[in-house]
Amino acid sequence: MDSTATPEQISLRVVVKKRKNRVLYAEAGKDFVDILLSFLTLPLGTIARLVSKDSNTKPCQFGCISSLYASVCNLDPKYLNSETCKQMLLQPRNPMERYNQKLKLNIDDTDPTKYYACDSCFYEDGSLVSSSENLKCECGGHSTFLLTPCKSLLCSGSDQNEIRDTRGYVKETAFFLIAEDLNIIPADLKTILCLLKNLHSKDPPQESTVVLGSNEILDLLKCLLMSKTALTDLLLGKEHSLVDSETSFETTDERRGRESTRTMKMKVLISKSKSKILFAQVEEDFVDQLLSFLTFPLGAVERVLEGNSGLVCVDKLYNSLNNFDSTGDFKSEKMKNMLADLKVAPYFKVNDQMLPIDELKCPSELSYCYSKLVRSYYLTSGKTLFSKPVARGLRMSDPKSPIMEEKSGNGYAKSRTKYMVADDLSVKPFSSHHVLSSLAKFKVHHHDLEERTICVGAQEVLSILKASLVSTSALRIGLNFFDKYY
Ligand SMILES: [Zn+2]
Repeated sequence: MDSTATPEQISLRVVVKKRKNRVLYAEAGKDFVDILLSFLTLPLGTIARLVSKDSNTKPCQFGCISSLYASVCNLDPKYLNSETCKQMLLQPRNPMERYNQKLKLNIDDTDPTKYYACDSCFYEDGSLVSSSENLKCECGGHSTFLLTPCKSLLCSGSDQNEIRDTRGYVKETAFFLIAEDLNIIPADLKTILCLLKNLHSKDPPQESTVVLGSNEILDLLKCLLMSKTALTDLLLGKEHSLVDSETSFETTDERRGRESTRTMKMKVLISKSKSKILFAQVEEDFVDQLLSFLTFPLGAVERVLEGNSGLVCVDKLYNSLNNFDSTGDFKSEKMKNMLADLKVAPYFKVNDQMLPIDELKCPSELSYCYSKLVRSYYLTSGKTLFSKPVARGLRMSDPKSPIMEEKSGNGYAKSRTKYMVADDLSVKPFSSHHVLSSLAKFKVHHHDLEERTICVGAQEVLSILKASLVSTSALRIGLNFFDKYY
């Protein structure tokens, strides 16, 4: 890597243990640390989409999240609640969208959120607004009238008025040391001496400067999912020391699943001789839990797994939020709290979500105005200072709904529909054709098959989520199936 940074690049000073070919630490300022923190805000579906692209390294698989994502790509939208649901799952909205837009290098290519009003009743106070285009309105019109969201609407929750500076997360002057496992430590003399302490004189630290561009940032996101030493792998081009999926997997603690006492029934078809789950026959309630994984920001998943997801570098990155001084390093204390308590974007939560991951509330007092300056209509909340609103008291409609309506809390999956879920969490509509092709694929004899009906609650959903991050067998590992049922 070259050492002179262009405006689209970030330079890092790196201290390397030459003999061991390891990064001891990198020194980084706001630009790089904001990017690392923005990784926590990415919904899992976005991560699966990004790492499936080429960068300097090959596309990679993100556990079962990649297969779940690919199955949604192939799913006929008629098996979902609306056409928009598929779009929402494939392009999940980042709850911190606004703070990531001005990152020095932003690898997230998700379409920015837009809003649409009804083309025939848009001028009326109390009319409906949706983030989805072309929905039928109560009045018979359609949501085709584009409104540009103003700054405050894209900011997180109730803090929208308090954090006006939306350029990233940490202060301009912040300065950090980053370990090879992505533990971020605010830099001071004591920390540096501590890191240098264990170095032998035979292996003096060597300093160099490296320059990172968008390709390297995408490489880093891939390393984050696969390696225990992401920064060494990225900067010294090492082979990944891989995260072990099955051996390191611990099922999650019982007490974390206590939010919901509801259970869902499913039928599981197994091959006895291969100790393998071929697929499960499930209903929309379970499918909604799985589909919503794609919408969860990585940091929210870390929170419900208490910083122990099994993805070593992600755990380190998330847990290093505790190392930060909330007022000295972050732009404000609220900023730290928002990152530590990430939610899904407004209307992305399913009604009966079993895991304690909430959604951001949409701002109230919506109105829209015409801006002569940019010659467009913009949507805003609260007081409008510069122009008289065209319409006030707008009502937001749930984009998951097939029509424009104020009622919210829909799911993604079509109700009263049967689905098949494979061990790698790929979802298909239930059909005899899919059963036959699944049996043919696994080459199992009829006498080797066994069907079981099991009940799954919040704890199992949490375990499946955890297993889906590190393995390609989330049902078997997450349900602890062959230990528990045999
Ligand atoms: Zn209308």
